[in-house]
Parts: sequence; structure tokens; C-alpha cells
Amino acid sequence: MKMKAAVVNEFGKPISIEEVTIEPPGEGEVRVRVAAVGVCHTDLHGVKGEHGSSELPAIFGHEVSGFVDEVGKNVTYVKPGDRVLISLMKAGCGECFYCQVGQAVHCVKNKIRRVRPETGGLAGPSRCLNKDGMRLWQLTGTYAGFAEYTIVREEHLCKVDPDIPMETAAVLSCAVISGFGATINRSQIKPFESAVIVGTGGVGLSAIQGAAFCGAHPVIAVDILDSKLEAARSFGATHTINSAKVDPIQAVMELTDGRGADHVLMTVAGIKLKRVGFAMLSVRGRMVMIGHAGREYMNEFEVTEFMGGRSIFGSAMGGINLRVDIPRMLDLYRTGRLKIDKMITGRYSLEQINEAFASTEKGDVLRNVVLL
Ligand SMILES: [Zn+2]
Ligand SMILES: [Zn+2]
Repeated sequence: MKMKAAVVNEFGKPISIEEVTIEPPGEGEVRVRVAAVGVCHTDLHGVKGEHGSSELPAIFGHEVSGFVDEVGKNVTYVKPGDRVLISLMKAGCGECFYCQVGQAVHCVKNKIRRVRPETGGLAGPSRCLNKDGMRLWQLTGTYAGFAEYTIVREEHLCKVDPDIPMETAAVLSCAVISGFGATINRSQIKPFESAVIVGTGGVGLSAIQGAAFCGAHPVIAVDILDSKLEAARSFGATHTINSAKVDPIQAVMELTDGRGADHVLMTVAGIKLKRVGFAMLSVRGRMVMIGHAGREYMNEFEVTEFMGGRSIFGSAMGGINLRVDIPRMLDLYRTGRLKIDKMITGRYSLEQINEAFASTEKGDVLRNVVLL
């Protein structure tokens, strides 16, 4: 069937709203009528061509919520009409080695699916999307949210109860799990440990809340805008550092009795910033890298710097277990312990997608969403 979608035809140029064709869902796939899509920096890097692996024309958007429209063969988890969020994180198969040892995040079955030609790998041409017969690519190879409908494998879905607003569910599916999940699963913060969160967008504010939830003290937010640092305080930061005004490494040392931070959560892209974040660590400190712009290389680091026991960890979508952790986080949201709605500072229609991206790039917002 025909639908409206935001198509990127040229990197760094305005995105155009076009009529494209979406096929019926195949085996194991679900067609979702999109309700809300968060504007994530991953999309921003993608539409600017900074991932290095994307091809065009493409439809981006991966922080998605919506309503199940049609299900393909052998889909068991959802039925038409169900409210869902779609996440890059997948539910585990429950049967492979990693699922059996409780690490569904590394599920092998999902990984094999990911590189199957019909789903296109990380950035493949989609089987189910075309413009006048020409296949369209998707940033993630798995679904494309900036459109009226998207097709996705059912393991990317998590059902959402009717009391949860669709825009809240969308932001939860990437920004919140990436930040909040990382503090629990990757940083593994313990009470009284100090935590520095660099970047206070949607992911950073979620990491701040996660650090506070884990019992961190102090919770130090670093950004270059005072307005965002003020917001960071309302999300649980106990101290803030404007790195455009003061040396953030020295400021962290002063706030941690000269020892450095036990944890640094780096939510922004750029290897130079990660170098700064690493210098904030105490001996045995742990930095978790959450944000990145496609391919970043570690040649700024010397091996000897790790000898005091400092370490760097990666994090994919906060390392969460999709259908276990999303309901848990929604319970926290319901009781006010996880703030999501206050993060959403801009709402746009699909036609306003270029404004939404321009606003996200400018950086003075917390999280923008596109509502369909
Ligand atoms: Zn994202
Ligand atoms: Zn598995």
C-alpha cells in the first residue's frame, strides 16, 4: 500500500515527504501504524551521512511507538490493535547459550537474523519499502520510523499498556533505556559511588536518573548550556559543570576530593570528548561509552593509562532485557521515579521533520518527538 514517509535522498540536505510503497508483513514480521518517533542523535548522524555505512535513499527513525496494523505468518506476540514500542533492542529467543545464561542482550538467534539479506544487515535495502520500484534503505536495517507505517520483526516489539502516552513509549524505546539501562547494567553503580554524566539530552537525563536510582553520590552533570544543566538538576543531578566555562576534569577532581569519578557515562559523540571523560576517572574508575557517531577509533588512548585499573565499556541500548526491563521502567514511570514526559520539549508533525532535526542539532532541547 501507499503511505507518506520522510525520505532522505541526499546526505545533509532537507528530508522530503514522499509517497512510498510498503509491502504486507512477511513471516515473523509486523506492520505498525506509527504514532510517535523520537529524534535521536543516531538519526541526526545518519541523515548527515556520518555513519559511513548508510546508503540512500533511506528512511530513518528508530525511537518508535505505534499500533499493530497487520501481522505476518507465525507472529505470536502481538495482534492487530495492540499498542507497542519498537526498539533496536530485541527480545531474546530464550533458547540460545546467552539467553540460557541470562544475557538475552547477546542473543545469537537475533544476531543471525540481523545479517540476513532480506533484512539488510546494519543498513540494508529494505525488502518491504520502495519508491516507484526502487528499494529504500533503513538506518538500522530493521525498521524505519519516520513514516506512517513501518514493518519490523516481532522480537523488536514490546507491548505498552493504554495508560502510557505514545510519545512517552517512543522516548523510552531508545533514549531512556540507553541512559538508565547503562547505569544499572554497564556501569553497575553502587551506593555512594560518584558518577559523572557527560551530555544532558534525553540519554544523559536518563543516565542521571539511573545513577540517582542506583544510589550514586555525587551525581555530576556536564554540558555546555546552563539551561540544560538546570534541567539536569531537576532530574537528579546534585552538581553541574559547564564545560564551556570551566575545565571539566579539574572541576570533577574538586567534587571528588581529588580522586576522580568512580563512573563516567559518556552520552555524547566524539573521541576527543571520550578522552576528556577518561581523564575524569579515579583509579579503578569505569567509563561507559553510550553515544557515538558511527565509527570512532580509540587511537587517542595509551595502554599505560589503563594500568591503574581504569576501564572503558561499551553499551548497546543500556544492555536491557527488552520485555523484562521495559515493564519495570514503566512501573517506575507510573510512580514518578522515572521522569520521561518532562524530557520531551519539542513536538513536530512529519511535515516538520526538518525543523525537528535542526532543533535537535542546535542542541538547546532535551528530546524532540515527531507525532503522526
Ligand atoms: Zn537512538
Ligand atoms: Zn537467544
